[in-house]
Amino acid sequence: ERSVPAILGHEAAGHILSGPQTGQPVVINPLIACGNCKLCDSGRTNLCQQRIAIGWHRPGTFADQVIVPKDNLIPMPQGMNPAHAALTEPAATAIHATRLAERTLVGDIENAAVLVIGAGSIGLLSALALQAQGVEQIAITESNAMRRASAASTGDWEIIDGAKTAPPPEAYDLIIDAVGSHTSRHIALSAISTGGVVIHIGLADNDGGIDVHRLTRHEITLMGAYTYTAQDLEDALHQLHRGSLGDLSWIETRQLRDGPNAFRDLDAGRIAAGKIILIP
Ligand SMILES: [Zn+2]
Repeated sequence: ERSVPAILGHEAAGHILSGPQTGQPVVINPLIACGNCKLCDSGRTNLCQQRIAIGWHRPGTFADQVIVPKDNLIPMPQGMNPAHAALTEPAATAIHATRLAERTLVGDIENAAVLVIGAGSIGLLSALALQAQGVEQIAITESNAMRRASAASTGDWEIIDGAKTAPPPEAYDLIIDAVGSHTSRHIALSAISTGGVVIHIGLADNDGGIDVHRLTRHEITLMGAYTYTAQDLEDALHQLHRGSLGDLSWIETRQLRDGPNAFRDLDAGRIAAGKIILIP
């Protein structure tokens, strides 16, 4: 839970301002895990129940400067565009989800027919991460026309107008729900094939939508995916740097002081970009 007033923001790149590594460009890991519970010991630091986060429990990154524990800094590759590096956090969330999917699917992920619900940054980055893994059959359903257009120009996939057309029933081996609403869960549980895997990332609402009879009789795996580990972040950063996740031309940059307007525009659905990067 956040208490207000608070400085939000947990996806950021910058450079170190003090200490022995002054000047080093870095990306931040906003999750501060306890480091000595059973989950941390098994490498699942994203699930640590003692974890706190920059941008929730501590002041966030919508600022010129932020205090970050040194263990939560990841060096940025030489010459990398900081606006691209700032996508490390959502890219790591997408990569974490595709890893869970790969581990759970019965067949090879490359051969899976995949549906991504939602073309915001997590949806788009999930589709890009899947494409980077060699998945060829990817469809994205999105109800916002501007986001559909942006997604269409980003990769080689089928775009479904979610406002008009439901994805075909029982057609996909893997579905990534990057929305997480009653409606998106309903779509996922109907479009998933028998024995398929639904990865639930979005947190739009907590209001049902799951056909548990179909889930049971068709042995569908419904799995939550929550954030990322330090390894996912590191891998995401290097994939972004290498260009494995595309040219990232779908992001928009604005000045930090324009942040309040950016939120208003996002809230009103006036933004095509899946992500707005604020530059201090
Ligand atoms: Zn822990």
